[in-house]
Amino acid sequence: MILSRVGCNDVLCKKNMPVLKAACAIVKIVLRGSMVSEVANPSPGHTEGGICPICKSSDVPKFRAVGDYQYRKCRQCAFVFLHPMPNESVLESMYNTGGRITGDNYPKAKSRFHRGLRTAIQLYRFAWRGPVLDIGCGGGFQVEAFRLLGMRPCGLDIGANSIAYARNHFGKSTFYRESFQEFSKRKLKFKMVYSSEVIEHLVDLDGYMRLLNNSVNKKGYVYITTPNIDSDLVPENINDWDVFDPPRHVQFFNPDNLKQLFADYGFTAKRRLYGPKAGLRFIFRKQ
Ligand SMILES: [Zn+2]
Repeated sequence: MILSRVGCNDVLCKKNMPVLKAACAIVKIVLRGSMVSEVANPSPGHTEGGICPICKSSDVPKFRAVGDYQYRKCRQCAFVFLHPMPNESVLESMYNTGGRITGDNYPKAKSRFHRGLRTAIQLYRFAWRGPVLDIGCGGGFQVEAFRLLGMRPCGLDIGANSIAYARNHFGKSTFYRESFQEFSKRKLKFKMVYSSEVIEHLVDLDGYMRLLNNSVNKKGYVYITTPNIDSDLVPENINDWDVFDPPRHVQFFNPDNLKQLFADYGFTAKRRLYGPKAGLRFIFRKQ
Protein backbone atom coordinates (compact mmCIF):
# COMPACT_ATOMS: atom_id res chain seq x y z
CA MET A 1 0.00 0.00 0.00
CA ILE A 2 2.66 2.49 1.02
CA LEU A 3 4.77 1.77 -2.04
CA SER A 4 1.87 2.15 -4.43
CA ARG A 5 0.97 5.47 -2.82
CA VAL A 6 4.38 6.89 -3.66
CA GLY A 7 4.18 5.54 -7.18
CA CYS A 8 6.94 3.03 -6.59
CA ASN A 9 5.60 0.29 -8.76
CA ASP A 10 2.25 -1.30 -8.04
CA VAL A 11 3.75 -4.69 -8.79
CA LEU A 12 5.55 -4.45 -5.48
CA CYS A 13 2.30 -4.94 -3.60
CA LYS A 14 2.12 -8.61 -4.52
CA LYS A 15 4.57 -10.17 -2.10
CA ASN A 16 7.59 -9.00 -4.10
CA MET A 17 7.31 -11.62 -6.83
CA PRO A 18 6.80 -9.11 -9.64
CA VAL A 19 9.86 -7.24 -8.41
CA LEU A 20 11.95 -10.32 -8.95
CA LYS A 21 10.59 -10.58 -12.45
CA ALA A 22 11.36 -6.94 -13.07
CA ALA A 23 14.81 -7.48 -11.57
CA CYS A 24 15.49 -10.34 -14.00
CA ALA A 25 14.55 -8.12 -16.92
CA ILE A 26 16.82 -5.40 -15.61
CA VAL A 27 19.69 -7.88 -15.17
CA LYS A 28 19.47 -8.68 -18.86
CA ILE A 29 19.57 -4.99 -19.72
CA VAL A 30 22.50 -4.40 -17.40
CA LEU A 31 24.47 -7.36 -18.72
CA ARG A 32 23.82 -6.28 -22.29
CA GLY A 33 24.35 -2.55 -21.85
CA SER A 34 26.85 -1.76 -19.14
CA MET A 35 30.47 -1.31 -19.99
CA VAL A 36 32.68 -2.11 -17.06
CA SER A 37 36.43 -1.87 -17.23
CA GLU A 38 39.39 -2.34 -14.94
CA VAL A 39 41.27 0.80 -14.08
CA ALA A 40 44.87 1.39 -13.14
CA ASN A 41 45.95 2.35 -9.62
CA PRO A 42 46.50 6.06 -9.13
CA SER A 43 49.70 7.61 -7.87
CA PRO A 44 49.28 10.30 -5.16
CA GLY A 45 52.17 12.80 -5.52
CA HIS A 46 51.68 15.31 -2.71
CA THR A 47 52.82 18.81 -1.90
CA GLU A 48 52.00 19.76 1.69
CA GLY A 49 50.54 23.01 2.96
CA GLY A 50 48.86 24.57 -0.09
CA ILE A 51 45.33 25.49 -1.09
CA CYS A 52 44.17 22.68 -3.39
CA PRO A 53 42.16 20.22 -1.26
CA ILE A 54 43.46 17.28 -3.30
CA CYS A 55 47.17 17.82 -4.03
CA LYS A 56 47.82 20.79 -1.65
CA SER A 57 49.31 22.91 -4.43
CA SER A 58 49.10 26.69 -4.04
CA ASP A 59 49.05 27.19 -7.80
CA VAL A 60 45.28 27.57 -8.10
CA PRO A 61 44.41 30.42 -10.49
CA LYS A 62 40.88 31.74 -10.92
CA PHE A 63 38.82 29.57 -13.26
CA ARG A 64 35.23 30.82 -13.50
CA ALA A 65 33.02 33.12 -11.47
CA VAL A 66 29.30 32.49 -11.06
CA GLY A 67 27.55 35.34 -9.28
CA ASP A 68 29.53 36.06 -6.14
CA TYR A 69 31.19 32.65 -6.16
CA GLN A 70 34.68 32.04 -7.52
CA TYR A 71 35.84 28.66 -8.82
CA ARG A 72 39.55 28.00 -9.00
CA LYS A 73 41.35 25.29 -10.94
CA CYS A 74 44.49 23.63 -9.64
CA ARG A 75 47.27 23.70 -12.22
CA GLN A 76 48.79 20.55 -10.75
CA CYS A 77 45.80 18.20 -10.47
CA ALA A 78 43.06 20.11 -12.38
CA PHE A 79 40.67 20.01 -9.41
CA VAL A 80 38.01 22.75 -9.69
CA PHE A 81 36.68 24.10 -6.41
CA LEU A 82 35.14 27.16 -4.78
CA HIS A 83 37.67 29.33 -3.01
CA PRO A 84 36.77 30.63 -0.54
CA MET A 85 34.42 27.80 0.37
CA PRO A 86 30.94 28.73 1.63
CA ASN A 87 30.40 27.79 5.26
CA GLU A 88 28.45 24.72 6.25
CA SER A 89 25.39 26.65 7.40
CA VAL A 90 24.82 28.07 3.90
CA LEU A 91 24.63 24.55 2.52
CA GLU A 92 22.62 23.07 5.34
CA SER A 93 19.95 25.75 5.01
CA MET A 94 19.70 24.92 1.30
CA TYR A 95 19.01 21.26 1.96
CA ASN A 96 16.32 22.01 4.48
CA THR A 97 14.38 24.48 2.38
CA GLY A 98 14.13 22.42 -0.78
CA GLY A 99 10.35 22.87 -0.86
CA ARG A 100 8.94 19.98 -2.84
CA ILE A 101 10.17 17.18 -0.57
CA THR A 102 7.90 16.40 2.36
CA GLY A 103 7.26 13.37 4.55
CA ASP A 104 4.58 12.34 2.02
CA ASN A 105 5.93 13.58 -1.28
CA TYR A 106 9.20 13.07 -3.17
CA PRO A 107 9.67 14.24 -6.77
CA LYS A 108 10.17 11.49 -9.38
CA ALA A 109 9.75 8.77 -6.77
CA LYS A 110 8.96 6.05 -9.28
CA SER A 111 11.95 6.66 -11.54
CA ARG A 112 14.27 7.03 -8.54
CA PHE A 113 13.18 3.63 -7.28
CA HIS A 114 13.61 1.95 -10.67
CA ARG A 115 17.05 3.47 -11.07
CA GLY A 116 17.82 2.21 -7.57
CA LEU A 117 16.89 -1.33 -8.56
CA ARG A 118 19.13 -1.25 -11.64
CA THR A 119 22.04 0.04 -9.54
CA ALA A 120 21.43 -2.54 -6.81
CA ILE A 121 21.67 -5.31 -9.40
CA GLN A 122 24.91 -3.86 -10.80
CA LEU A 123 26.41 -3.71 -7.30
CA TYR A 124 25.04 -7.02 -6.11
CA ARG A 125 28.31 -8.93 -6.37
CA PHE A 126 30.15 -6.30 -4.28
CA ALA A 127 27.53 -5.93 -1.56
CA TRP A 128 25.96 -9.36 -1.36
CA ARG A 129 24.21 -9.76 2.02
CA GLY A 130 25.70 -6.43 3.16
CA PRO A 131 25.59 -4.57 5.41
CA VAL A 132 25.43 -1.50 3.17
CA LEU A 133 25.31 2.22 3.99
CA ASP A 134 23.87 4.87 1.67
CA ILE A 135 25.46 8.25 2.52
CA GLY A 136 23.17 10.97 1.21
CA CYS A 137 20.25 8.57 0.95
CA GLY A 138 17.56 11.21 0.26
CA GLY A 139 14.12 9.59 0.28
CA GLY A 140 15.53 6.09 0.76
CA PHE A 141 14.84 4.66 -2.71
CA GLN A 142 18.26 3.11 -3.13
CA VAL A 143 18.14 1.72 0.40
CA GLU A 144 14.81 0.04 -0.38
CA ALA A 145 16.21 -1.39 -3.61
CA PHE A 146 19.20 -2.81 -1.71
CA ARG A 147 16.85 -4.28 0.90
CA LEU A 148 14.75 -6.04 -1.71
CA LEU A 149 17.93 -7.69 -2.97
CA GLY A 150 18.83 -8.88 0.52
CA MET A 151 21.73 -6.51 1.28
CA ARG A 152 20.81 -5.24 4.81
CA PRO A 153 21.09 -1.48 4.07
CA CYS A 154 20.69 1.70 6.11
CA GLY A 155 20.67 5.36 5.09
CA LEU A 156 22.22 8.61 6.30
CA ASP A 157 21.15 12.11 5.25
CA ILE A 158 20.98 15.62 6.71
CA GLY A 159 17.71 16.52 4.99
CA ALA A 160 14.90 16.40 7.57
CA ASN A 161 12.15 16.05 4.97
CA SER A 162 14.02 13.40 3.00
CA ILE A 163 14.55 11.31 6.10
CA ALA A 164 10.92 11.78 7.15
CA TYR A 165 9.86 10.49 3.72
CA ALA A 166 12.25 7.54 3.90
CA ARG A 167 11.07 6.55 7.37
CA ASN A 168 7.41 6.87 6.34
CA HIS A 169 7.72 4.80 3.19
CA PHE A 170 10.56 2.37 3.73
CA GLY A 171 10.21 1.62 7.40
CA LYS A 172 11.88 -1.78 7.30
CA SER A 173 15.30 -0.11 7.04
CA THR A 174 17.02 2.28 9.46
CA PHE A 175 17.53 5.91 8.45
CA TYR A 176 19.81 8.27 10.37
CA ARG A 177 19.48 12.03 10.26
CA GLU A 178 22.75 13.27 11.71
CA SER A 179 26.13 14.75 10.84
CA PHE A 180 29.06 12.67 9.62
CA GLN A 181 30.73 13.29 12.98
CA GLU A 182 27.74 12.03 14.94
CA PHE A 183 27.35 9.01 12.70
CA SER A 184 31.05 8.16 13.01
CA LYS A 185 30.61 7.77 16.78
CA ARG A 186 28.36 4.78 16.14
CA LYS A 187 31.43 2.96 14.80
CA LEU A 188 29.35 0.95 12.35
CA LYS A 189 31.17 -1.03 9.67
CA PHE A 190 29.89 -1.93 6.22
CA LYS A 191 30.72 -4.21 3.37
CA MET A 192 29.91 -1.40 0.97
CA VAL A 193 29.25 2.31 1.27
CA TYR A 194 27.19 3.79 -1.52
CA SER A 195 27.30 7.57 -2.05
CA SER A 196 25.82 8.98 -5.21
CA GLU A 197 26.03 12.67 -6.20
CA VAL A 198 27.12 13.75 -2.73
CA ILE A 199 30.84 14.55 -2.78
CA GLU A 200 30.43 17.55 -5.10
CA HIS A 201 28.32 19.28 -2.42
CA LEU A 202 30.66 18.86 0.53
CA VAL A 203 32.65 21.63 2.15
CA ASP A 204 34.34 19.22 4.56
CA LEU A 205 35.93 16.85 2.09
CA ASP A 206 38.35 15.48 4.68
CA GLY A 207 35.52 14.68 7.13
CA TYR A 208 33.67 12.79 4.41
CA MET A 209 36.71 10.81 3.33
CA ARG A 210 37.50 9.87 6.93
CA LEU A 211 33.91 8.71 7.37
CA LEU A 212 34.25 6.53 4.28
CA ASN A 213 37.50 5.11 5.51
CA ASN A 214 36.13 4.42 9.01
CA SER A 215 32.86 2.93 7.77
CA VAL A 216 34.18 0.38 5.30
CA ASN A 217 35.51 -3.01 6.31
CA LYS A 218 38.99 -3.97 5.22
CA LYS A 219 38.70 -5.10 1.58
CA GLY A 220 35.24 -3.52 1.49
CA TYR A 221 33.98 -1.20 -1.22
CA VAL A 222 32.87 2.36 -1.83
CA TYR A 223 30.63 3.09 -4.79
CA ILE A 224 30.64 6.77 -5.69
CA THR A 225 29.21 8.93 -8.43
CA THR A 226 29.84 12.60 -9.14
CA PRO A 227 29.81 14.88 -12.20
CA ASN A 228 32.84 14.52 -14.51
CA ILE A 229 34.22 17.91 -15.47
CA ASP A 230 36.35 16.28 -18.20
CA SER A 231 33.38 14.66 -19.96
CA ASP A 232 32.81 15.36 -23.64
CA LEU A 233 29.22 16.12 -22.66
CA VAL A 234 30.19 19.24 -20.69
CA PRO A 235 29.18 22.31 -22.76
CA GLU A 236 31.95 24.33 -24.40
CA ASN A 237 31.01 27.25 -22.19
CA ILE A 238 31.10 25.51 -18.82
CA ASN A 239 28.82 28.14 -17.29
CA ASP A 240 26.06 26.58 -19.42
CA TRP A 241 26.52 23.21 -17.67
CA ASP A 242 23.42 22.67 -15.53
CA VAL A 243 25.40 21.35 -12.55
CA PHE A 244 27.84 24.27 -12.59
CA ASP A 245 25.83 26.10 -9.94
CA PRO A 246 27.44 27.26 -6.69
CA PRO A 247 26.98 26.98 -3.79
CA ARG A 248 25.02 23.77 -4.45
CA HIS A 249 28.07 22.21 -6.12
CA VAL A 250 31.29 23.36 -4.51
CA GLN A 251 33.77 21.17 -6.43
CA PHE A 252 34.27 19.15 -9.59
CA PHE A 253 36.43 16.11 -10.23
CA ASN A 254 38.02 14.41 -13.20
CA PRO A 255 38.88 10.68 -13.13
CA ASP A 256 42.49 11.23 -12.10
CA ASN A 257 42.03 13.61 -9.19
CA LEU A 258 39.12 11.54 -7.83
CA LYS A 259 41.38 8.46 -7.84
CA GLN A 260 44.15 10.50 -6.23
CA LEU A 261 41.85 11.63 -3.40
CA PHE A 262 40.71 8.07 -2.68
CA ALA A 263 44.25 6.74 -2.84
CA ASP A 264 45.25 9.24 -0.16
CA TYR A 265 42.60 7.74 2.16
CA GLY A 266 43.55 4.13 1.54
CA PHE A 267 41.39 3.14 -1.42
CA THR A 268 42.27 1.61 -4.78
CA ALA A 269 40.12 2.10 -7.87
CA LYS A 270 38.62 -1.29 -8.64
CA ARG A 271 36.17 -0.56 -11.44
CA ARG A 272 34.97 2.37 -13.43
CA LEU A 273 31.42 2.11 -14.72
CA TYR A 274 30.18 4.15 -17.65
CA GLY A 275 26.73 5.60 -18.14
CA PRO A 276 24.95 8.00 -20.45
CA LYS A 277 25.55 11.13 -18.36
CA ALA A 278 28.57 13.38 -17.82
CA GLY A 279 29.37 11.54 -14.65
CA LEU A 280 32.07 9.56 -12.88
CA ARG A 281 31.04 6.19 -11.44
CA PHE A 282 33.73 4.33 -9.54
CA ILE A 283 33.99 1.35 -7.27
CA PHE A 284 36.91 1.79 -4.86
CA ARG A 285 38.25 -0.93 -2.63
CA LYS A 286 39.74 -0.36 0.80
CA GLN A 287 43.27 -1.69 1.13
ZN1 LIG B 1 45.55 20.14 -6.96
